[in-house]
Amino acid sequence: MRFLAVLALLVSSPLWARDAHYEGRYVDAHLHYVDFMQESEGMDAMFNAMDKARVEQAWVFGLPVVKKWEQSAPRRPRYFLGDEAPLYYYSATDDLLAQAIAALPQERRRRLMPFISGINPTDLNAARHVEALIERYPGLWRGIGEVITRHDDLTALTEGETPRANHPALMKVYRVAARHGLPVLLHSNLTSLREKTPIYLEELEDALKENPKTRFILAHAGTSGGVEARQAPLETLPAIVRALLERYDNLYVDLSWSVREHYLLDDDRPREVWLTLINDHPDRFTLGTDLVGHFGSMKKILNSYRPLLNALPEEVARRVASDNAKALVPEKGAVAK
Ligand SMILES: [Zn+2]
Repeated sequence: MRFLAVLALLVSSPLWARDAHYEGRYVDAHLHYVDFMQESEGMDAMFNAMDKARVEQAWVFGLPVVKKWEQSAPRRPRYFLGDEAPLYYYSATDDLLAQAIAALPQERRRRLMPFISGINPTDLNAARHVEALIERYPGLWRGIGEVITRHDDLTALTEGETPRANHPALMKVYRVAARHGLPVLLHSNLTSLREKTPIYLEELEDALKENPKTRFILAHAGTSGGVEARQAPLETLPAIVRALLERYDNLYVDLSWSVREHYLLDDDRPREVWLTLINDHPDRFTLGTDLVGHFGSMKKILNSYRPLLNALPEEVARRVASDNAKALVPEKGAVAK
């Protein structure tokens, strides 16, 4: 009787409740060393957080923009989306990161996969800038990004021309990335605030189509906190992501931040449509914390992926949590060629 009851429970309980807990390690494939003021708690704090959260490696990068302190602001702006001042492109972010890494002991350096992020994605010089950084720090860089294009209010607040995934300046950057085997972590929202259809999808598709040799990781699966907080979730998102993955072999999908907060889980329960999508394309997803310069919540954020990882076959969970990110970066950092 008891046996039958247990059996009945097992059969009736959903998949997510039955599987073993994911006990593996992580690669945090979305970690900003600095915040929007270009400040950081520093490498010690970052490594302490990584150790506590079982993060073996991290894709680490700065932030391409910095918040300006305008003379009209009543006080120094604290938040990047504050309306008291714009943001502007800040290329020193890569040097800040490179110098902090250079000061690390070898066993820590080995755990970091640094990405070049400090480019203005609308400047036709951006590709040259990437090559100059590769020359300046030979063997250091393992990727490019997070490149920020369509990003709700952040786009509106950033000074200058509006960036987009298929901007000619970025198309040149993608070719440099392909030549060096560097993956590109690209933030390109699928839609704008208060638009219910993916009006920016074509820009992304242009980039993917015209650069088949460049591997792209679509940050947050094309979503952002600003959009998701203000409108209903894009119901077609899983279908769009599936179609993109099937159409473009060079596309991967980052499951950090807004896609984790608004799509993957329903009250801590993974949504079936996402589980099926990930199971159908187990090599195409990565995850990360998207922390910016402050690292105290790393463990908490990664733990919130557990219901999703626990509901996937162990092998698939390990790929999403670490192996896919490891496979995407080149074995050695880029050198000038
Ligand atoms: Zn980010």
